Amino acid sequence: MTPPMDEILGQVLRNAVWERLDMLSELANRADAPSLLSVARSELPRLTEGWRAMLAAHEPDEKGNCPVCSTRWRQQKAPCSVWQAAYEHLVAGGLAPSPSNARRPLAEKKAKRPNSATGRLANAR
Ligand SMILES: [Zn+2]
Repeated sequence: MTPPMDEILGQVLRNAVWERLDMLSELANRADAPSLLSVARSELPRLTEGWRAMLAAHEPDEKGNCPVCSTRWRQQKAPCSVWQAAYEHLVAGGLAPSPSNARRPLAEKKAKRPNSATGRLANAR
């Protein structure tokens, strides 16, 4: 039996995103300096805009719940997994100058996370 069309489109969409991420990783690892600079100038703003759009959708509502991750039956308290991932990748390890910081175990980084770190950054713009 063939899968329904929306399932196929979903797979195509996800593959395209994974391939894009693979391409960027490949460039970061292999491109020469001028190419890397050019890629960074064009891609970094796209990546930051992407994070902003995603985080804005996951901003907590007035009750402190994520409107996207909550269901009618189960409320998801902020910070939801999207905000936690953003903190892990962008703040805790992502932009740290030492590459060894990026390989710290998740539990250690979580223990050091200040409670206010996932505040309302998107509103600060
Ligand atoms: Zn969420």
